[in-house]
Amino acid sequence: MSKPVRGRFAPSPSGRMHLGNLFCALMAWIPVRAANGEMVLRIEDLDPDRSKLEYALQIEDDLRWFGLDWDEGGQKGGPCGPYYQSRRQSLYEECFHRLEEKGLVYPCYCTRGELHSAQAPHREDGMPVYSGRCRSLSPEERARLAENRRPAWRLTVPDGEVSFVDGWQGKYRENLARDCGDFIIRRSDGVYAYQLAVVADDGEMGITQVVRGCDLLDSTPRQLYLYRLLGYPEPEFFHLPLILSETGKRLSKRDRDQDLGYLRSFYGRPEPILGQLGFRAGLLDRPESVTAQELVQVFSQHPERLSLKKSAL
Ligand code: GLU
Repeated sequence: MSKPVRGRFAPSPSGRMHLGNLFCALMAWIPVRAANGEMVLRIEDLDPDRSKLEYALQIEDDLRWFGLDWDEGGQKGGPCGPYYQSRRQSLYEECFHRLEEKGLVYPCYCTRGELHSAQAPHREDGMPVYSGRCRSLSPEERARLAENRRPAWRLTVPDGEVSFVDGWQGKYRENLARDCGDFIIRRSDGVYAYQLAVVADDGEMGITQVVRGCDLLDSTPRQLYLYRLLGYPEPEFFHLPLILSETGKRLSKRDRDQDLGYLRSFYGRPEPILGQLGFRAGLLDRPESVTAQELVQVFSQHPERLSLKKSAL
């Protein structure tokens, strides 16, 4: 028997969810429920300055209001818990040490200013491709720099291509050394980076399919590299087109008219909102009112209707 599908929704509790976050939760949930799989809710509260428990609780309340449920995670707990990243430090530490033992981790003393002033090509997300400046510092140079600065920790990447086929965006490839450079796995304030935590968590939680926004498409090669180094089986990836605001910008948690607090009180019930999202996903011919469960039925009967090929980036 093949293993059950295990999907997840992994929100950051840094504000009220907006329509784009809900779209992502819905698109992660529908295929899992259609496959009688298991759904995990993981709260990505790695960054202590931006995360709040009240937002995490609000996320649970919003998901329930829309009829989306989960088998493990959040306050409910489960066999792979805890499901709050802030409580999973020991796992990240262990992964960090495994990478260190492979000789692939080094301290980086570059300041933000130095990184941005370097004559390096820039990634799509505006970050410079890291030059490897701190990779070959001598022990003496490291000791001298460590007197005034706490380092971030970078993972050495190979000069080789990582490619994968995204379920919605098609083939995607990146040469890690050329397009990204050695990347941070632990910040200078000691917080483990998203790239490391997300792989450790999805790996340990046995996630088989990752559905998330297209803004994370270009993180995936870095994550696949980590999957291989840490020896976790790779999930399938599906990156969703982002929902844009009326001015054509990415939705942010500051766009009040798209936040779920506003939408819930404006519509009073979930069905019209779910209808709009089902229509956007190609599951409905028009934005008519539906329940989340009805969308699962449509998808179960006509999975080919889901048409999310185009990235809005
Ligand atoms: N926590 C991330 C976010 O809310 C999502 C990470 C992921 O799905 O891999 O944008």
